[in-house]
Amino acid sequence: MTNDLVANFALLTAFLFAYNLLFGQKVAGLRPSLRTKTIAGAVYGIFAILLMYFSVSVGPKTILDFRQLMIISSAAFGGLYASMLTGLITVIGRVLLFGGLNHSSIVASISALTLALGSGLISRAVRGHTGRMWFYSLLLSLICLTGTLTYLLGRDSLTILPRMAPLIVLGGIFVAGLTAYFASANRLTQELRASEERYRQLHSMQEAILRSASGVSIVAADLNGRITLFNRGAELMFGYRAKEMIGRGVKGFDVLTERAKRGLADEREWTFVRKDRTRLRINLIVTPVKDEIGVYIGYMGVATDITERKRAEEALRKANEMLRQLSLLDGLTEIPNRRHFDQALDREWSRAATEDRPLALVLFDIDAFKSYNDTYGHQAGDRALIQVAAAAKACLRTDEDIVARYGGEEFAVILPGANLSEATRLAEKMRAAVEAARIPHAGAPTNGVTVSAGVAAVRGSALPGAHALVAGADRALYAAKQGGRNQVRQAKAVREAMR
Ligand code: GH3
Ligand code: MG
Ligand code: MG
Repeated sequence: MTNDLVANFALLTAFLFAYNLLFGQKVAGLRPSLRTKTIAGAVYGIFAILLMYFSVSVGPKTILDFRQLMIISSAAFGGLYASMLTGLITVIGRVLLFGGLNHSSIVASISALTLALGSGLISRAVRGHTGRMWFYSLLLSLICLTGTLTYLLGRDSLTILPRMAPLIVLGGIFVAGLTAYFASANRLTQELRASEERYRQLHSMQEAILRSASGVSIVAADLNGRITLFNRGAELMFGYRAKEMIGRGVKGFDVLTERAKRGLADEREWTFVRKDRTRLRINLIVTPVKDEIGVYIGYMGVATDITERKRAEEALRKANEMLRQLSLLDGLTEIPNRRHFDQALDREWSRAATEDRPLALVLFDIDAFKSYNDTYGHQAGDRALIQVAAAAKACLRTDEDIVARYGGEEFAVILPGANLSEATRLAEKMRAAVEAARIPHAGAPTNGVTVSAGVAAVRGSALPGAHALVAGADRALYAAKQGGRNQVRQAKAVREAMR
């Protein structure tokens, strides 16, 4: 008899595996729906019938099997509803298939329904505590079994029960353990699948975002410099299709990834030649790409087109430079203005001091210009000013020499490195050049426009101050005017300082 029961038990085990294979994954981790409970209750019931079919006969109309475990399993899975369904199917099966309505089938039915109701209620009461549920249900099932057998077999039950009870208990523990194991394994599989799915979705979402972003260029490459991603923005910016770029090597890869190779972010400006050969100035940020466990798998470059910005910056720079130039030029004569002169004198003064070299200054003033204006008019006077400026400028020795409009019809010449005699020679050259320009001036003794000039010079080691240089040149100019005009005079005080 025990052997038969073990065979019955093996059948039960096989069923549990088959059941798990068929339905386990579908219901794992979820609260079973009414439909699932119905299916489970029915399947457990049908299987209880199968177990009865292979049952062990212990009396003329008394059979033993593990149908109780089916009812309890059903309750554990689907609560009172499922267990009652299983119980009912079991009862119907017991009555119809095994001898119809008779004494023992009625008792067995009452026992089955009691267990179905009891275990269903227990499962509701202990809610979630599978261990307790099985403990109380097995206890109830033993009580039912004892009652049934005692009622049907009388004293004979005393020989059957002690062999039966341990098997029921062991079987119950086994079934409970197995179903609990199945449930947790199924739940884990389910969770793993769900998390894989989430990860896959997230990943493909990120990929899609990267690929379709059109406002920013994103290019990724593997460790060997082969392009693995070339997004929409890159297509638009560089004029290549992703199809033609994926798998191609990145030009200048070693240079571009030099910092990224050491794990650092790198931002630089880079010139890129587009497919249509036009040049593009881009700002490129290169960063290393790591996988989830921190292993370097490639590099990513994000590029922004700064061609327009660069162009605008350059235009602005040029405009600024032009403005600066303009602000330092005299509007009429187009030679440096007074402001430029002041700045240049300061600069050359410091240089003369630090380099210990001479610095000379010439001031010249047009002779009898008031009467020129009176005779020829102001506009003619302006033209004469332009001619005088041009004649003086033509006499300069180097780019360092500066002739500026000092004010009205007075001019100032800065001669870095020139001593007094060199400066006097240059002043004389300018005076002669203006005279040689033969700008008619009826009121002048020479019948032409002339200038008078004063020259001053200092040496770096004996600097008396820039203003002294100007004052010296001015005194000399005054002396030139007093001396009869159209001549050059040297400043006495500064000359002494020069030795
Ligand atoms: P001197 O030989 O002593 O220098 O006699 P001058 O008549 O030149 O006297 P002064 O230097 O004082 O004359 C300055 C004159 O220069 C006054 C003004 O009419 C003229 N002048 C100053 N600036 C301009 C200018 O921008 N255009 C014109 N047409 N004339 C100017
Ligand atoms: Mg004057
Ligand atoms: Mg004058």
